[in-house]
Amino acid sequence: MTVTDLFRLDGRVAVVTGASSGLGVAFAQALAEAGADVVLGARRAEKLADTARLVEAAGRRAVTVATDVSDPESCTALVDAAMAELGKVDVLVNNAGVGTAVPATRETPEQFRQVIDVNLNGCYWMAQACGRVMQPGGSIINISSILGITTAGLPQAAYSASKAGLIGLTRDLAQQWTGRKGIRVNAIAPGFFESEMTEQYPEGYLELMRGRIPMARKGDPQELAATVVFLASDAAGYVTGQTWAVDGGLTIT
Ligand code: NAP
Repeated sequence: MTVTDLFRLDGRVAVVTGASSGLGVAFAQALAEAGADVVLGARRAEKLADTARLVEAAGRRAVTVATDVSDPESCTALVDAAMAELGKVDVLVNNAGVGTAVPATRETPEQFRQVIDVNLNGCYWMAQACGRVMQPGGSIINISSILGITTAGLPQAAYSASKAGLIGLTRDLAQQWTGRKGIRVNAIAPGFFESEMTEQYPEGYLELMRGRIPMARKGDPQELAATVVFLASDAAGYVTGQTWAVDGGLTIT
């Protein structure tokens, strides 16, 4: 076996939430290219079918399940479908997320709760459902954000709290499951990548942020997908409980 073989995911089954748009599509495609069959969850079933075609074009099997990650029963149903159709779950990419930017004095309890429900609680329900069936060698990858580590000029209390909470969740699940169950748990903190979420930014915002990024550009989703494949694979066999910033250096400025 060569070191590049360690990055392969042949015969593995990966679950990707938020696979109907943006980064989740890139993650599903990359995992399939690395050899995994992929189970796709999000609310918009018709868009999941588009992602499924990309997975199949890479020669892998795809299963789509309309899923609302804020509902624990829906998360269980997604994992049940993975087990029924593909027999196991080796990798979970907790990617579903919503973004908001609301000044703290104006944010309603409903707005705050909705972001926490999807971005933090949803990841926990998914991790619980997968953690119950995953075998040793499993890998959970939580998509946090640089907003879990630093600030970036917009009022994002709910989003930042959810993403910082996800880093804490990552650490704790790694501590609970790595030794006892052989499941590695890591997080990725992306910087700025084009997606439906970043289309909602105020005009000029991304240009302004560029000045804070040592690489002076947005990331390419493939640069993030490569980190997902690495953390999913045996190449990261000694990596657990960590948060990987993939941000062009933004968090060091
Ligand atoms: P996006 O294009 O808006 O994708 C978000 C995904 O989450 C969609 O597939 C959406 O699908 C899904 N989703 C939202 N609510 C859901 C729910 N209740 N249940 C199930 N799925 C749900 O944005 P993105 O940029 O690709 O975001 C992906 C992840 O990366 C998020 O966690 C985000 O916080 C994180 N992130 C992104 C960036 C960036 O620059 N793009 C930076 C840092 C972190 P449906 O609407 O079909 O449910």
